[in-house]
Amino acid sequence: MSVRVRFAPSPTGFLHIGGLRTALYNYLFARHHAGAFVLRIEDTDQSRYVEEAEADIIRSLEWAGIEIDEGPNRPGNVGPYRQSERKAMYHEYARQLIDNDFAYYAFDTSEEIDEMRERLKASGNPSPKYDSITRQSMKNSLTLPKDEVERRLADGDEYVVRLKVPRRETVKFEDLIRGIVSFETAGLDDQVLLKSDGMPTYHLANVVDDHTMGITHVIRGEEWLSSAPKHMLLYKALGWEAPTMAHLPLIMSPSGGKLSKRKAESEGIPVNTKEYISGNYEPEALVNFLAYLGWSPGDDSEIHDMEELCELFTLDRVSKGGAVFNHKKLMWYNEHYIKHTSLEDLLPRVKALAEHAGFDVKSDKYLTEVLQLLHERVSKVDEFVAMGSFFFEAPKEYDEKALKKWNEQSGDFVSMYKLKIEAFSEEDFVASNLKSALEETVAENEVGFGKVMMPVRIATTGQGFGPDLFPALALIGKEEVLSRMDTALEKLSD
Ligand code: GLU
Repeated sequence: MSVRVRFAPSPTGFLHIGGLRTALYNYLFARHHAGAFVLRIEDTDQSRYVEEAEADIIRSLEWAGIEIDEGPNRPGNVGPYRQSERKAMYHEYARQLIDNDFAYYAFDTSEEIDEMRERLKASGNPSPKYDSITRQSMKNSLTLPKDEVERRLADGDEYVVRLKVPRRETVKFEDLIRGIVSFETAGLDDQVLLKSDGMPTYHLANVVDDHTMGITHVIRGEEWLSSAPKHMLLYKALGWEAPTMAHLPLIMSPSGGKLSKRKAESEGIPVNTKEYISGNYEPEALVNFLAYLGWSPGDDSEIHDMEELCELFTLDRVSKGGAVFNHKKLMWYNEHYIKHTSLEDLLPRVKALAEHAGFDVKSDKYLTEVLQLLHERVSKVDEFVAMGSFFFEAPKEYDEKALKKWNEQSGDFVSMYKLKIEAFSEEDFVASNLKSALEETVAENEVGFGKVMMPVRIATTGQGFGPDLFPALALIGKEEVLSRMDTALEKLSD
């Protein structure tokens, strides 16, 4: 039997980084087994539906290099791939469950349910449920006469369909990550399967779809583990074999606890995939990082592209414990992937970013040289622009921290250096000559190298650190360098 997995997000907002990891693990597992990766949109909760969410999910997966084999955008044989378009099927199976006495119609109003809860609480039950005991005193097709049930249905009375959870049973299944998982049905309520608006709940739709879509493995976040026993009861009641389960560890915040949206924000961690796209992260870096967030191949290797990850990934190497989101590690990956991207590939991206920031990049040749000077120093592609702005325009201001190193001699050193390099012809205005001239200035004044170089750097770049100064000056060009020195001498001398 060939492997079929699904990523089943609810379109309630932008794709969370945890969701992207779930999608990635499903994808890696599918590819590892030459199986299919299905995208299913679980849009049964109309009150939380967000219009742009589906497009955001698809765009995010594409950006990350996760290819959808079947989904709303790539229909296969088991569609439709949006739950809102599969309503008839859920009704059909709900009816089957009722006919076989595994589910029932319930007509109780919310006031009646509240009343039941209050009554039970008052008699000492701290968490009253609609269950095998309480259902006996409620208004449902198990307690009402058959003709009344029929009349109510025919009259269009509001109803829900509930699962008839057995009173005392142990539900056991094997989870590929957690081992044997066992739950007592005594703690479960009679789960609503069809809501009064005719929509299925997550539980019914999820089970019907996983079965009818031929899903072999359910790989999803740990937060769904507590729903699994209800799903197991449903599979059994419908006479179906359940898919193999694998519940992934939670993603934890560096300060402890689950990485919630609020926590992530307070710790400066982008939480939606969208922010990684607009934040100019390398998709390969995020993928490599996320793959290791809860999994490892079992050796010291850390760098693997998608193809290698597909080959290496197995569920038995997914950890049980929560995985801490380390943003520094992500930046380490990002830097690695930037360093291994050719200047040719970086060029159009940096060009677009620089132009977007309003810079004139002169020519591709010029920009390539800028990239070469900065390539070793950046960890994110937009840093080429932030760090290299002085290649495109004269500094508008001087970095305050750098200016702490500017003292009363600095201006004189800049003037002396300027005198020397002014004498160079355009052709001689090259890194080696510019360096010798600085060394001469240093020797003549009997000071440290930095005493002269720092003021020259500040005057010409506005910054206290940056790429190798002499090739940078040669690239900026004689006329511009001299004019920047004049401006700085004017602005910085008191
Ligand atoms: N719709 C659920 C979610 O939003 C799917 C959970 C599952 O994979 O079963 O994550």
